[in-house]
Amino acid sequence: MIDHHLHTHFGDGQDSPKEMALTAKKAGVDVMGFSEHFPRPTGYDYPTEGYNHSDLASKWFDYASEVNRLKGDLDEPPKVLFGAEIDYLPDEEKTLQAELSAFNFDFIIGSVHMIGKWGFDYNQGEWDGRDVDKLYDAYWETMFKMVGSGLFDFVGHLDVIKVFKNSYPPTRDHTDDAKDLLREIQKKGLPIEINTGGLRKPCKELFPSLELIKEAVALKIPIVTSSDAHRKEDVGFYLPEVATTLKDLGVKEVVYFEGRRPTNIELV
Ligand SMILES: [Zn+2]
Ligand SMILES: [Zn+2]
Repeated sequence: MIDHHLHTHFGDGQDSPKEMALTAKKAGVDVMGFSEHFPRPTGYDYPTEGYNHSDLASKWFDYASEVNRLKGDLDEPPKVLFGAEIDYLPDEEKTLQAELSAFNFDFIIGSVHMIGKWGFDYNQGEWDGRDVDKLYDAYWETMFKMVGSGLFDFVGHLDVIKVFKNSYPPTRDHTDDAKDLLREIQKKGLPIEINTGGLRKPCKELFPSLELIKEAVALKIPIVTSSDAHRKEDVGFYLPEVATTLKDLGVKEVVYFEGRRPTNIELV
C-alpha cells in the first residue's frame, strides 16, 4: 500500500516523520511519501491559519534533513520518500521553480489551495457572501494553468474546491469542468492522487469524487493513493477501501515517485 501525501509537525501536522513511519508500518503502508507544504512566497495567506506559515519556512531545512535521515535509517519497509506539496500560484512560477530546484525531491505534489491570494480551503466562514460559482470557475482555471506548468509530478486533491459544498453549494453543476481538466491531465501524462482526506473534511467525500475517479480510470490516467494525514493515526486512512474500489474498476497498478521518476506497482 502506498501513502503518498503526509504532513508532519514541521508544518501543520502533529507528529514527527519517525512517529508516522512507525504507525505506517502497523497500518500496512509499504511506501510513504512525506509532502510537507512548501513555503509560499509572502503575500499569499489564509485569513486564519491553523499554523504559523513563516515558522514553516524557518523549519523547512530541518524537515528536509530529518526525512532524508529517516530514508537512510530504515532498511525495512516502509520505504520513505522525500517530497513537498506546493501551492500552485500562477504569478509565482519562476520563484517556485527556482526554490524547488534547491532540493533533491523524490516527488512534488501540485495543489491549488489559493484563489488569487486567498486561501479558500481552511475556514468555512470565509466563504460567506462570496459568489460560489465564480470561485469554482477561478479554481478550475488555476488548475488548468497548474497542469501546464511542469512544476510537479502528480495532481493533488483534484476537486478540493468542493470542501465546503454542503454549506456553500454552487448553483450549477461543475462536473464538466472537472472532466475537461482530467482530459488535459491525460494529455500531459500526469497522474492524479486519490486523497482520502476529503472523507475527514466537511464534504465527507473522496478527492476526487467517485464519478471523477471512474472518468480518470476510463482515460487511463495513472493513480497515486494518499491519506493526506496530518497525524500518525491517519496514516493509511481508508486506503484499503480505495484499493478495493480501484480493483473493482479494473485498475491493476498504482504509481509512486522516487527521484521524480514514476514506478508502477501492482495494486494489492
Ligand atoms: Zn493540500
Ligand atoms: Zn496536504
